Amino acid sequence: MAWFRREHTPLPPKEQESRVPEGLWIKCSGCKEILYRKDLVKNMSVCPKCSFHFRISARERLDMLFDGAWQEFDQGLVSADPLKFRDTKAYADRLKDGKAKTNSWDALVSAVGPLGGMTTVVAAMEYGFIGGSMGVVVGEKVTRAVERSLAERRALVVVSCSGGARMMEGTLSLMQMAKISAALARLNEARLPFVSLLTDPTTGGVTASFAMLGDLNIAEPGALIGFAGPRVIEQTIRQKLPAGFQRSEFLLEHGMLDAVVDRRQLKKTLVRFLKFLLD
Ligand SMILES: [Zn+2]
Repeated sequence: MAWFRREHTPLPPKEQESRVPEGLWIKCSGCKEILYRKDLVKNMSVCPKCSFHFRISARERLDMLFDGAWQEFDQGLVSADPLKFRDTKAYADRLKDGKAKTNSWDALVSAVGPLGGMTTVVAAMEYGFIGGSMGVVVGEKVTRAVERSLAERRALVVVSCSGGARMMEGTLSLMQMAKISAALARLNEARLPFVSLLTDPTTGGVTASFAMLGDLNIAEPGALIGFAGPRVIEQTIRQKLPAGFQRSEFLLEHGMLDAVVDRRQLKKTLVRFLKFLLD
């Protein structure tokens, strides 16, 4: 069922690729320097010249954080497309494309494994899957990751990378915010630590729920973090926004984050935080 009809052919959406693309050489989006791909990957996809943090996939993130082998759980949860939604393309086809592109069934990979020697539950969002948007599956998977932490008394880390709630699932995607927040409240009552890592970008309903509910909220440098986009805010308040608005460093300065951590120091820092919180 189409909910609205367009008279004109819509413009094809421009995809901005900030992930490390294929090929031998890559131009850095930060300093425009031409980089050798292998050097960049060796440097955790951080530009060796200007420290620009390229976006990485959920699986790369998990490989980077865990000490060694990790185990994925809730792998096969799939959206039922309850609204049979279609915009410029059927939602069912977008789901299929996402699977082909990322080798995941939805925009989050939940895993358990050793982190600094401590068995830890880590869920990482996958931006390559419909912009890392949060629908019913992401909501359910985060909730189950919380419940697993509770049952096994483990610390929880969630890595956010998301454009927000998934409009193709309408209000059902918004309900995930309350569901996850309620589960996190139970984790808090059980005195188990939850560290939220915000990466570029973390916006919309994800920021408005679990991404900002960590015992510690930490971010990667230069990440876009916010609820509404800067253009919408500018138009609403009719004021020019300050430079660096909605970037990690700005949010840290204004008390919205606990730390901004370079990716190359991330694991070490995370282990230190978790040890402190678990003591
Ligand atoms: Zn650079």
